[in-house]
Amino acid sequence: MKGVDIFMKQININYTNNLISQNKNSILFTTNRPNIVMEHGKGMYLLDTEGKCYLDFIGGWAVNCLGHCPDIINDAIIKQAKTLINASPSFYNKPMLQFAKLLTDNSCFDRVFFSNSGSEANEGAIKLARKYGEKFLDGAYEIITMINSFHGRTLATMSATGKKVWENLYEPKVPGFKHVPLNDIDALKASITSKTCAIMLEPIQGEGGVNKADKVYIETISNICKEHGILLIFDEVQTGIGRTGKLFAYEHYGIEPDIMTLAKGIGGGYPLSALLTKEKLNIFEPGDQGGTYSAQPLGMAVGMAVVEEVINKKLFINAEIQGNYILKKLRELKDKYKLKNIRGNGLLIAFDLPCDKGTEIVDKCLHEGLILNSPRPSIIRLMPPLIVTEKDTDNMINILTKVLDLTL
Ligand SMILES: *Cc1c(COP(=O)(O)O)cnc(C)c1O
Repeated sequence: MKGVDIFMKQININYTNNLISQNKNSILFTTNRPNIVMEHGKGMYLLDTEGKCYLDFIGGWAVNCLGHCPDIINDAIIKQAKTLINASPSFYNKPMLQFAKLLTDNSCFDRVFFSNSGSEANEGAIKLARKYGEKFLDGAYEIITMINSFHGRTLATMSATGKKVWENLYEPKVPGFKHVPLNDIDALKASITSKTCAIMLEPIQGEGGVNKADKVYIETISNICKEHGILLIFDEVQTGIGRTGKLFAYEHYGIEPDIMTLAKGIGGGYPLSALLTKEKLNIFEPGDQGGTYSAQPLGMAVGMAVVEEVINKKLFINAEIQGNYILKKLRELKDKYKLKNIRGNGLLIAFDLPCDKGTEIVDKCLHEGLILNSPRPSIIRLMPPLIVTEKDTDNMINILTKVLDLTL
């Protein structure tokens, strides 16, 4: 029996190796990937073509908020796919109207524009801020963003992004962005001019390594924006939809941004994004903004099912409870492995390593069946689905401990 098992496994490994080697050269190279092929997903787990299970603590990159392949999403896709997949952006459709209302009923915003990725939602926010500047601020167009921020991969959102390694990439960048350090109110004040139309930031920088904007900092920015008549844009692509322990991260600060963008969690794995704003910014004219797939019914039905589930099951509360449990468990490892700065809100969590072995740790965890992320060589980040349980965390900690023992 044992011999047969090993034989079967050998066949599977050959199958996987062939699958990769025979086809991978057709994929435009953009990144190095491990020699595995993901085939199935269920709840907290991914399964590869060899049947190996991986406990997923990055949740499809902070996307699969309900876990992998939940019935809620499957049912919504099948039901809507049988009814109407795409009607063209020139018509209203039923789930578009209902989903927009669901989002405005559950936030401080009045109006929604739908698109397909976080970058696209942020592009929309940049356009809306420039439109506002043109209309109300004498043509002001500059947007202040943060160093270490991440806003996307289109040219304008790359230009908005404050990533050092992107500084010389795809020059010339889109003009009109100034970068200042997060939580430095003097630097921010000094960068405001008559050309400024908006300040854009992530309430907690995700890709930058889980760096939180201080409460006083956000309160001060909010006041400055009101004083100068400039817009406050929250990029909640990663922090929105329950991730940080509230439905939206702005709720932690007791302020209301003028614009908020959402993606990642909003589709639970289906590509979808949204820009939300106030009635006073309902200022686009016909032709100013659009998109072939904007508010297409299939995506709308999925998004509505996901957001309804997060709200009905209060998954943002689970995010807070489980996040605290993860923090507690990580803090128990702190002294032994010299971990530093264990931080996070809800299920957006990171810690610093005593050395730059992030990639090595992530690779070894993967080998042991655990998916983690290292956004910087010295940082490990966790962003599991909002359905994570204490048992999942205990399993994660067991594997992580084993790997830290091997590595540090
Ligand atoms: C992921 C992310 C984006 C980009 O979203 P895409 O869907 O990859 O275009 C923008 N902003 C933040 C904060 C993100 O985390």
